[in-house]
Amino acid sequence: MREYRDYLARAAGMAHRQPNVLPPKGKEGGTMKAMVLDKISSVEARPLKLVELPRPIPGRGQILVRVSACGVCHTELDEIEGRVSPSRFPMILGHEIVGKVDGLGSGAGKFRRGDRVGIAWINWACGRCSFCLKGEENLCDTSKWTGKDVHGGYAQYTIVSEDFAYPIPERFSDVKAAPLLCAGVIGYRALRLSGMEDGEVLGLYGFGASAHIAIQVAKYKYSRSKVFVFTRPHQTEHQDLARRLRADWIGATSDTPPEKLDCAIDFTPVGEPVREALRNLQKGGRVVINAIRKMTPVPELDYTDHLWYEKEVKSVANVTRRDAQEFLPLAAEIPIVPETQEFKLEDANEALVLLKQGRMRGAGVLKITE
Ligand SMILES: [Zn+2]
Ligand SMILES: [Zn+2]
Repeated sequence: MREYRDYLARAAGMAHRQPNVLPPKGKEGGTMKAMVLDKISSVEARPLKLVELPRPIPGRGQILVRVSACGVCHTELDEIEGRVSPSRFPMILGHEIVGKVDGLGSGAGKFRRGDRVGIAWINWACGRCSFCLKGEENLCDTSKWTGKDVHGGYAQYTIVSEDFAYPIPERFSDVKAAPLLCAGVIGYRALRLSGMEDGEVLGLYGFGASAHIAIQVAKYKYSRSKVFVFTRPHQTEHQDLARRLRADWIGATSDTPPEKLDCAIDFTPVGEPVREALRNLQKGGRVVINAIRKMTPVPELDYTDHLWYEKEVKSVANVTRRDAQEFLPLAAEIPIVPETQEFKLEDANEALVLLKQGRMRGAGVLKITE
């Protein structure tokens, strides 16, 4: 109870302050390299610029993190292209951050210098609104999101409230841990929201960073279930990866699978698979849409073919700290083996172009410091 009161008190204090503001140039703390976004742009224009900035200074209850790896997420494409605009510019994107604690703000005592921590998409929540009080901080009215409202991990350093950082299980290297923090956590949340039970058939539409982790969770938790994977026909690398991760059937998005799907998760950035998943869905089944934005509209649905028989559609919005706290130990227990492609910080634009083209094998990760 005391911990919760402290949390509320801290949250109230933070609400009045812009968290993670960079100090004025030249003021204490040294500098850091960062890739920053100045304005909405096309990803093909390689809009992230490598700059030298002052290192941020942790405020009350915050920790300074020396970033060793940061995952590249589809949400960055949405931010760059303006479907989910950063709340200010310039902004340092990136919300799958792994690094070591390098400094403590006043009152911060959960971690020690040198501890390895992870930072995810949820950067701060008010702790007081009706959603937060129900444990649905992912829906908080005044929440802040890493790399959107607050500078993220495409940089050598970042800061975060210690309440929104997580210990990283030892089993994972920095690079392998990075995609667990969004792709992994949100895939885990989507799987939970799908209501899947052992023995049921799961359909996965799209097979990128998140789906290739979700299949490993599903195979571990539901050993009697079949998992069917749908990709675009030219995505042979995604299909090979699905085969290696024991998918029971692999087809194209428009294919009809050998059995009806009891539940399906749509990981794609486009609208069409929502209708396809509903078409292939068993009576009483549920389609969960794991996307912050769609690049094309969901096509018109026919009530009889797509919705009747108590079929459900549900979206996944963001993650809670609880999702991360539950998922990270589970990922170590399974153990999840993330497929990663490494890039240097200054090659972030190239990684994003590859991701947009659907050519990233597994998860892209920027390797920032040793
Ligand atoms: Zn993400
Ligand atoms: Zn709230």
